[in-house]
Amino acid sequence: MTALEPGGPPAAADVPRRNWAGNVRYAAREFHRPDTIDDLRRLVAGSTRLRAVGSGHSFNRLGDTDGDLVSLAGLPPTIEVDRERGQVTVAGAMRYGDVGQHLHTQGHALANLASLPHISVAGAVATATHGSGQTHGNLATAVAALEIVTADGDLLHVDRDDDTFAGIVVGLGALGVVTRLTLDVVPTFDLRQYVRLDLAPEALDEALGSAYSVSVFTDWRTPRLREVWRKQSTDQSPPEADWLGTTAADEPRHPVLGMPAENCTPQLGVPGPWHERLPHFKLGFTPSSGDELQSEYHVPRTSVAEVLAALAEVAHLIAPVLQVCELRTVAADELWLSPNYRRDSLAVHFTWVDDADAVLPVLAEVEERLAPFAPRPHWGKVFVTDPRALAARYPRYADFEALLADLDPKGKFRTDLLDHYIPR
Ligand SMILES: Cc1cc2nc3c(=O)[nH]c(=O)nc-3n(C[C@H](O)[C@H](O)[C@H](O)COP(=O)(O)OP(=O)(O)OC[C@H]3O[C@@H](n4cnc5c(N)ncnc54)[C@H](O)[C@@H]3O)c2cc1C
Repeated sequence: MTALEPGGPPAAADVPRRNWAGNVRYAAREFHRPDTIDDLRRLVAGSTRLRAVGSGHSFNRLGDTDGDLVSLAGLPPTIEVDRERGQVTVAGAMRYGDVGQHLHTQGHALANLASLPHISVAGAVATATHGSGQTHGNLATAVAALEIVTADGDLLHVDRDDDTFAGIVVGLGALGVVTRLTLDVVPTFDLRQYVRLDLAPEALDEALGSAYSVSVFTDWRTPRLREVWRKQSTDQSPPEADWLGTTAADEPRHPVLGMPAENCTPQLGVPGPWHERLPHFKLGFTPSSGDELQSEYHVPRTSVAEVLAALAEVAHLIAPVLQVCELRTVAADELWLSPNYRRDSLAVHFTWVDDADAVLPVLAEVEERLAPFAPRPHWGKVFVTDPRALAARYPRYADFEALLADLDPKGKFRTDLLDHYIPR
């Protein structure tokens, strides 16, 4: 830790006033975009209530504050590769898409990515954002170390050797402002993406395990699953003509019917680098549909058939307010607030229409049907889970509460939604 020089707070400029989807207008009294770490530290030390915002792609008020909202986009976008350790250290505000391009030119890759490359590394890690692949953990599992400005303005470095590391990584933005993250890298690799149509629900389990990263899309209008997106190693043979009873898409697809496939990464088996195949959406284009709300629940990977059957009972409620549902897999990890904590997971995602009044009652029904599977909601999406039920689904919840009390005793980084789920 280094000492802080006295000085005034940095000026606000170009900080988003609302989230990407537009369903959350940030309630902050002041917006800040510091240019240096010392300015950031001074701001944090002098504030009574503060939150960091990344690229604003979350759908709930977890990161909203009535105090100071700070974007790290003004800090230098540093990216340092350590070849010997097989790691890269990046500034927290950098987007995965930019990190990916740089790493690839240096011969490196990240093991997995989310569906969109537009999100900041710090914001994605804070909510345990994930891609798909049953042997791949969520994006937070790649974190080997991080630097965080704590409530008193100190700069704290934590790595895998620290006892609280597994609690700090998926920190929900509640433990401080993450300035830099060190991520594990692997040698760069190419993938091919194939889209297959019309999967029988009985074949879902096998389909999800059939390639490096698999996403299955459906709309709950029929029992059959509309599309399988297979992102597979270039060494793996293409799916046979009648693979699992599906047919091959003969032109590029967008997950949401009626949206332009131009926004999506190349399909039809064209080989390309990992960072241009693992995300569904291209960096320079709008991801998903834009006018939407999202929810997602992680349930045990072993419960695929039962979960499909439970949701089928409320398909008639889901379908009218749904744009698309996506099913993915995530490997178990040890991070305290990760939805994948010690549980190989099936992630059940919903892209809803942009109408909270219509969606929230359906969400309550969906949560009720999923309750027997102890669903852990995505921290950055919309959910209506009872706080006590949620706490019971996380064996290390009490340890995280203790960490919060220790690192943020005055509740500087607290928000209303956090208080609802982790009361003081
Ligand atoms: C179109 C679309 C597609 C998506 N696809 C996926 C997907 O494939 N998989 C998935 O898991 N999720 C997905 N998401 C959700 C998204 O990845 C998460 O909500 C993620 O947190 C967004 O990152 P962000 O940088 O926008 O964070 P923000 O929304 O800006 O912030 C999220 C949280 O992180 C905190 N935070 C941000 N920066 C910092 C920092 N520097 N230090 C400390 N805390 C910080 C904030 O306070 C807040 O609590 C998608 C979202 C959209 C809009």
